[in-house]
Amino acid sequence: MRYLSTRGHADRKRFCEILLEGLAPDGGLYLPEAYPQISSTQLGHLRQVFKTQGYAALAYEVLSLFIDDIPPLDLKALCQKTYTEAIFGTPEIVPIKVLKTNAAPGAVVYLEALSNGPTLAFKDMAMQLLGNLFEYELTRRNAELNILGATSGDTGSAAEYAMRGKKGVRVFMTSPEGRMSPFQQAQMFSLLDANIHNIAIEGVFDDCQDIVKAVSNDLEFKRKYKIGTVNSINWARLLAQVVYYFAGYFQATQHDAQKVSFSVPSGNFGNVCAGHVARMMGLPIAQLIVATNENDVLDEFFRTGVYRVRGTADTHETSSPSMDISKASNFERFVFDLLQRDAARVKNLFHDQLNQTGRFDLGQDPLFAQAKIKFGFLSGKSTHADRLQTIQNVFAENHIMIDTHTADGLKVAVPLAQPDVPMLVLETALPIKFAATLVEALGREPDRPPKFEGIEALPKRVVLMPKSVDAVKAYIVQHCD
Ligand SMILES: *Cc1c(COP(=O)(O)O)cnc(C)c1O
Repeated sequence: MRYLSTRGHADRKRFCEILLEGLAPDGGLYLPEAYPQISSTQLGHLRQVFKTQGYAALAYEVLSLFIDDIPPLDLKALCQKTYTEAIFGTPEIVPIKVLKTNAAPGAVVYLEALSNGPTLAFKDMAMQLLGNLFEYELTRRNAELNILGATSGDTGSAAEYAMRGKKGVRVFMTSPEGRMSPFQQAQMFSLLDANIHNIAIEGVFDDCQDIVKAVSNDLEFKRKYKIGTVNSINWARLLAQVVYYFAGYFQATQHDAQKVSFSVPSGNFGNVCAGHVARMMGLPIAQLIVATNENDVLDEFFRTGVYRVRGTADTHETSSPSMDISKASNFERFVFDLLQRDAARVKNLFHDQLNQTGRFDLGQDPLFAQAKIKFGFLSGKSTHADRLQTIQNVFAENHIMIDTHTADGLKVAVPLAQPDVPMLVLETALPIKFAATLVEALGREPDRPPKFEGIEALPKRVVLMPKSVDAVKAYIVQHCD
């Protein structure tokens, strides 16, 4: 399996070559040269593997279709080490359950639990594997990596819990001081591992991102201090997410002629892009539903064909903050497939047109209709009032609490659910991470998994810094022996 860039660079790379990289050299994103195709025999085999050997064995089967430069037994061991009940809370890893909703008669809506990992968000599903893959590859190369990131909450904590104690890796994670929920701050700042560094910046999330960009653009510094990232454009992260679309499908169906749909709370289009990859492989998915919050860049595209990047001023701070995006960094991958893999055109749209005008319009292009017809995409948006209402409805009818992002996914899914096509809503976080909004909706604190009892009171390890690129650089230098 070789990987190419969405912007047409001539290089063809193998999995481990792109594992530690972000963007391709021409600024594009990596994708496989062709998606492996699952025959009906293979689908039956995968169902059997999942039913008899579980999630880790399924993960190995799916990943090995894309990874041919890690010896099979090693890859298998990495999957077995990652997807355990001890780390993900249940033997099924991603159990599903039926939700009572007011969907059309005969339409069954499920919640697929992806948030029982160490940081209670779906990002653990990919990040935990990434931590093990990084350690494996860095050991093989006898190399080191310093991960520099910016987080508004979920990504940073998932990265830290995945990389803590790993050989060859340090994490330097910037976050906007005082902006994360108290629970999120406690999760990150209570980590005492020597290779984890929390840096609170006196500024907002964009300031943190600007600092990370400035450090990464200093190529000499980047090379000397082996700076890398773990953001959602990383191909390995996306690939790890493909597996739970298969696991959801096998749980919601009895035989391989059935179809299901997925509703995905979306921000950077990483999660739903993994669903797109699964569908391109031949997993019987009817619809992939892109659910956004008030930051509706993606909903606007799927409705109109216009992709319009937002400025800082018109990016809303919402109660589903992990979906507050101004542009969707994985979206280029889908547009590449939509435009029949015309890399020159993708480069023109994402490099030239977006830089010059901040938008492009495919509304008049005959290919745009294929987003729905051939690729199965639908979309919708949800607001703060919708979230509150959805959280209340689910609690009243099912006695369970869902988080604000999952509520966006459910709100958009219910009216689109069809009879006889199971609708799986991906649960992207647990409600305890966003307690304030749950209290607003239900008048009570969300349940807290026992291992998180009292974490706000633990000692904190964080340094406070002004929004200064030089200060962050100096800190990195000082902590790289
Ligand atoms: C990251 C995140 C999302 C958005 O996922 P994308 O892959 O960026 O589309 C949604 N919900 C939660 C809770 C998240 O942490």
